[in-house]
Amino acid sequence: PDSILFFRMGDFYEMFGRDAEVASKILEITLTTRGSGQGNVPLAGIPYHAAEPYLVKLLKAGHRVAICEQVEDPKTSKGIVKREVVQVVTPGTVSQSVLLNEKENNYLVGISGDQETLGLASVDITTGEFRVTQLNSDRRFACLAQELSSLKPPECIISSSLAEDREIKKALTGLRSSVRIMEDWNFESSFAYNKLLEHFNVRSLKGFGCDDKPQAIAAAGAVLAYLEDTQKTHLTQITRLHSYDLSRFMALDKATQSNLELTHNAQDNSRRNTLIEALDSTRTAMGARLLSQWLLHPLREKGSLESRHQAVAELHDDLLMRGKIQDRLNKVFDLERLLGRLGRVASASARDLAAFRESFKIVPEIVGILEKTQSFNLKIIKDKLFEHLDLVAEISLLISKAIVDNPPLGVREGKIIRSGYSDTLDELKAFSADGKNWVARLENQERERTGIKSLKVKFNRVFGYFLEVTTTNLSLVPDNYIRKQTMANCERYITPELKEKESLILGAEEKINNLEYELFQQVRERVISQTAVFQEVAHCLALIDVYASLAQTAKENNYCQPVIVDNGVLKITNGRHPVIEKTVKNEEFVPNNTFLDNDENRLLIITGPNMAGKSTWLRQVALIVLMAQIGSFVPAEAVEMSIVDRVFTRVGASDNLAMGESTFMVEMNETANILNNATADSLIILDEIGRGTSTFDGISIAWAIAEYIYNKNKIGAKTLFATHFFEMTELATIYSGIKNYNVAVREWRDEIIFLRKIIEGSADRSYGIQVGRLAGLPREVITRAKEILKNLEEKNYTKEGKASFAGPPPVVESNFQLSLFSPLISHPVVDEIREIDPNNLTPLEAINLIHDW
Ligand code: ADP
Ligand code: MG
Repeated sequence: PDSILFFRMGDFYEMFGRDAEVASKILEITLTTRGSGQGNVPLAGIPYHAAEPYLVKLLKAGHRVAICEQVEDPKTSKGIVKREVVQVVTPGTVSQSVLLNEKENNYLVGISGDQETLGLASVDITTGEFRVTQLNSDRRFACLAQELSSLKPPECIISSSLAEDREIKKALTGLRSSVRIMEDWNFESSFAYNKLLEHFNVRSLKGFGCDDKPQAIAAAGAVLAYLEDTQKTHLTQITRLHSYDLSRFMALDKATQSNLELTHNAQDNSRRNTLIEALDSTRTAMGARLLSQWLLHPLREKGSLESRHQAVAELHDDLLMRGKIQDRLNKVFDLERLLGRLGRVASASARDLAAFRESFKIVPEIVGILEKTQSFNLKIIKDKLFEHLDLVAEISLLISKAIVDNPPLGVREGKIIRSGYSDTLDELKAFSADGKNWVARLENQERERTGIKSLKVKFNRVFGYFLEVTTTNLSLVPDNYIRKQTMANCERYITPELKEKESLILGAEEKINNLEYELFQQVRERVISQTAVFQEVAHCLALIDVYASLAQTAKENNYCQPVIVDNGVLKITNGRHPVIEKTVKNEEFVPNNTFLDNDENRLLIITGPNMAGKSTWLRQVALIVLMAQIGSFVPAEAVEMSIVDRVFTRVGASDNLAMGESTFMVEMNETANILNNATADSLIILDEIGRGTSTFDGISIAWAIAEYIYNKNKIGAKTLFATHFFEMTELATIYSGIKNYNVAVREWRDEIIFLRKIIEGSADRSYGIQVGRLAGLPREVITRAKEILKNLEEKNYTKEGKASFAGPPPVVESNFQLSLFSPLISHPVVDEIREIDPNNLTPLEAINLIHDW
């Protein structure tokens, strides 16, 4: 009821009434009216063959579109042609490829919940991935928010009673997700349970590992019900439900994901200069999507991580093997989405089958290349693929025999099936060819018989075959020609024999097209009957693709294999920032060491001027840990690290203006989230927290936060804390596990040079004024700032933390007139004047000095 209805009428989709009014504005198409008597109906239409761009626009504008097709053949039906809504296109259920990014999943998410538990189900109907999890702990809302920001679903469905929950609303904010509220019964557990049993055709859900998770089931069932409602077809690509536990993964909350620019950058939300872009050398869309899933779900289990590292290492060292594999993967199409498309009668084409055939050719080759692999994970892939080789070969052969090399996009106009596949088809084709030959011969025959040199045999859709004679030759037309049509300078005729052949030819062609369609459908059915197996094959290929990609990136960028230890240490030797090391243009990236543990080096305070490289270092430490925990090699010379359960990254308010809300409030919200969720195994990155408020407030809050995190009875997490409050460096003198670091700079005359080296100890000055000068502030402003700084350094702050009186600006008469007697002025000449004793100068000495100055 709340969708815009595309109502198929001939070659158009028409929209009526309110739909037409709304859509015509969004689509910029003409609004007309139709009807008589009881008032006019607004009407707007779009051509059906060019509907996709319009559909996209409507979806982007937040609408859903119900597509109503003619479901009878207009030629054979009586009266008004029967129509049905065949699909409702919504943001989370689009399958049109123009609307999809091939490197990203497109999830529909369902959320259910009661007093203690939340259920979350996600489905990507284009690939068939269907997952579910249940969240039980006190942290369930934080987990939900975090998982939602990893999945980035374009659409969420949620029960009406849950929709009112404050925590849920909070978790959904800022997601850019279209939220659909559904009545509670959709989430009722027995309804949901039965939906799932029915779809998977099973007796219980034990096999999916979620039999005892009622909220997970409720969410999954509601998602399925919604899919049935909108897709109007059985989704063959959804072959299994995968139940997972979020505690297996490193937690990355939304702020951390965006601060670290993992999959989207902060400037334009694209992939440019993100970690995924730096890591992604995959050859298939399936691999690219899997890599992005890994990136947002780093592992926490040592064994699985080491197996991943081992697989990457093998492909890293064995260039030849990796080269061969990637060469084969280049030829693989997006099998997951192909299976999705093939599952739907209306969208499947013979090209999809041909793409399958091409992709499958390389499967035995991959198995061969992996023959001697030593890595546990690659062996598993090889064995899985080996297990399915027979079926893969059988289907490849079937498609090869049945489908021509380059089939057309349409499936109703023939030219799909290879000759030799079906005797009946070949007979029909021979028959039609005979007829066509007869017609072809007819032209010459009739020219000779009648003596009309210009006589032609032609064909058009309205009259079928006919003989055409120019007006000058009309006298030569024989008796058996029957006149059909008179044109400007010719006449068109038919003969009974010609019409007889014509009906044979056309009849045969229609039969051919129908038969080809039928045979195509049979092959398609055969392929999708094995969807589950082929999904497994596709997943294996995606996995190898990801390993090979990580290996390639590691090799090209000189990464090292991280060593996982259990002693709480994080030791990075000459670490680099994987993205910035590629983007620094005029200078070489300077690598830095990092040492953190659970005792003496628990919390590091980093000070140093703006632009020195503090934020870069902080982020690179977080990124290295995260990369290691997805199984990747890391940008460093050597890394020894203990597994981290959560990474938190917070950036001080004024560094992050894009948010819109009161920035200090956002900063404090996010910090509260850390203090409530971090553990001793977490890694916390705080970048200039507390700068969104007055100095004294800021220092006090920053100080208290640092103490709380440092306290082993509260959190005790490994922490890097960059700050511009020098007062914070005193923490190191009070607590044994807090250390000061700063970024080395060299002063040269009145300028600073950034050395980009992180060294122990606190910075002595912030060089803010020098940085201001580098940035091109006018000289007057710099001079005045120095005066004020000096005054402040002497008088400090008022009780409220406000800058105390800085003295009036000197009266400036001309541009750079210095006042000789102001004690504030600092200038080499002024300083020298202060030093000398005029009473002991000879007149000549005085004159010489003045000359120098
Ligand atoms: P801060 O946080 O101290 O103000 P940033 O970390 O934002 O400084 O760094 C400022 C710029 O300095 C970066 O954008 C980058 O271009 C450059 N930079 C930072 N660290 C390094 C490094 N280790 N080697 C080379 N250039 C660096
Ligand atoms: Mg910074």
